[in-house]
Amino acid sequence: MPKAEAGTAKHFANQQKAKGLTRLRFYCQVCEKPCRDENGYKCHIESESHMRRLQAITGSKGELAGKVIDGFSQQFQDAFVSLLSRRYGTRRIKANTVYNEYIQERHHLHMNATRWLSLTEFCKHLGREGIVKVEEDEQIPGTWFLSWVDNSPGALARQDALMKLERAKLDDESRQRRFLEEQIRKAHEAAEGNSQGTSAAGAGAGPQESMLMRDENAKPIKIGFGTKLKPPSPPDDKERDNAAPAVAANGDASSSSNPLSASALVLPSADAPSAPGSGLGFKLGMGLRAASKSTAPAAGFNALKAASSKHSAAAPLPTSFGASASAGATSTKAPQRASIVDQIIMDEMEKKRRKEERERERDRGQPKRMRL
Ligand SMILES: [Zn+2]
Repeated sequence: MPKAEAGTAKHFANQQKAKGLTRLRFYCQVCEKPCRDENGYKCHIESESHMRRLQAITGSKGELAGKVIDGFSQQFQDAFVSLLSRRYGTRRIKANTVYNEYIQERHHLHMNATRWLSLTEFCKHLGREGIVKVEEDEQIPGTWFLSWVDNSPGALARQDALMKLERAKLDDESRQRRFLEEQIRKAHEAAEGNSQGTSAAGAGAGPQESMLMRDENAKPIKIGFGTKLKPPSPPDDKERDNAAPAVAANGDASSSSNPLSASALVLPSADAPSAPGSGLGFKLGMGLRAASKSTAPAAGFNALKAASSKHSAAAPLPTSFGASASAGATSTKAPQRASIVDQIIMDEMEKKRRKEERERERDRGQPKRMRL
């Protein structure tokens, strides 16, 4: 029965009916004909139709056979590498896995039509050409691993960009480290300068420390979260106005870089005018601390360090208080934010107070108060 012409309905019907894979060894690439067994294959290559077709593509004396095989080899390599790159990218994969996937297609170009007699030879050829990186398994000799080498312009450009990015990141890091080192150096210098200044001025005669010293006869500082709430923003502005000139007037040699010097001056000025109700000054500090966290996050670094070295014995105030007051005094957006933060803190304090009250009542065994 003659073979159906390509493109005819009969041809498509035959293709659809053909299921499963055939033996790779008994496939005639020239005629694209799979044979069932060795005998069938032998009969086919001796058949007239095969001879005719072979003559047609290799020439009457077979002088073009080499060219034909080269063509098939190139096709096979292209298809194989394209599958490898498309399916696995640059990952390391067993050559046999790729080959098994390649031969899943019924009408693939068979290897026995190429110049390579085995997959190993083909792998070695690919390695020699630099198309893939080839490695042999150390445990199981004869097992080859391939990883595709992506030489496309896009991949090279991407690699270039990645390298640039990495370099930029390193630059950024080193710049940041240098900045931190500079900050630390400045802080050390400032601390040394301050200690020298205080020792030269005499025992406790330094302007900053004397201002922080409390009088023995003064009323005790009341620190509590009571109902005595301070009025909102106007006092803040006033005190900040007081603080700013104080910094400018009394600033010593290190005041330009060290926020601590500002804190040392601001604290008393916030404390002194309101000696009777000194709880007010404390609340102001709380508000400013919250504001400073959002506006000047870097201020804590220097100020904390310097504050611990300077105010260790001067006043029993928390060090962060000094830092926050200084940042609040120097930041420009402080007034509005401070008032909002104050409001929030007041609300929270009120809530906390109510909760404590409730708990106290429960402890006493009193009946629960109805919530309004
Ligand atoms: Zn044939």
